Amino acid sequence: CGIFAYLNYLTPKTRKEIVDYLIRGLQRLEYRGYDSAGIALDTPDSINITIIKETGKVKALENEIEIKAHAIQFDHTHNTHVGIAHTRWATHGVPSPVNAHPHRSDDDNSFVLVHNGIITNYKDVKVFLMQKGHSFESDTDTEVIAKLLGHIYDNDKNCSFRELVDQAILQLEGAFAVCIKSRHFPGECVATRRGSPLLVGIKSKTKLAADSIPILYSKDAKTTLSPDHRGVGALGSSVTPSTPPSLVAPPLSRADSTS
Ligand code: GLU
Repeated sequence: CGIFAYLNYLTPKTRKEIVDYLIRGLQRLEYRGYDSAGIALDTPDSINITIIKETGKVKALENEIEIKAHAIQFDHTHNTHVGIAHTRWATHGVPSPVNAHPHRSDDDNSFVLVHNGIITNYKDVKVFLMQKGHSFESDTDTEVIAKLLGHIYDNDKNCSFRELVDQAILQLEGAFAVCIKSRHFPGECVATRRGSPLLVGIKSKTKLAADSIPILYSKDAKTTLSPDHRGVGALGSSVTPSTPPSLVAPPLSRADSTS
């Protein structure tokens, strides 16, 4: 299982290209084993988020994307966009489309995220959020992260995206790597980790030799990719914390880096 995010900032990309990057990211994580896969990307008008997820192989997800091709509008171009993707190996909740990631904070898709790992105190967090009026649609531990972000945002709309995530993860126990996108923070992706590895690759507009692409290893607290980082970026994580990061998610290939 693993998470993957792809950002293009002020770099026009068609939705077809964005989806292809996400699928290729997932294909690289397939060897880890998984039971479901999913992606999230902005709607063509950039005011909502489209979530597509399916049980089974990445190929099954690709078929589902093909079925929805008309709605996805592959030819539409985004200058700035955040796409997130996931292969799930269920720990809480059976493999099913509704338990597959990405998960969301509410029907409006305010916060949408993919998660690798386990939130060990999810029951306590879930009880707290249900008492505050939030309802849950899946049996996963992951959904509490999305709902918690929505809850914090509803109570403090002045926070930056990163500050919100900082507040949320203070409430979480367990090992995790998470990539989050939000309707309230278009063009931004916040990724954070505790225990699980997470890799960040950044390509600037200037030409880079594939070998010199900076791969930043986030060592402990958290990593943010935001519009401060020009060009395109990709994040990936898979579940084995003891494995050196360079072995669990290979850096972008020459084809990826020069396209
Ligand atoms: N614990 C989460 C779930 O069951 C994530 C599992 C994973 O790392 O794929 O959905």
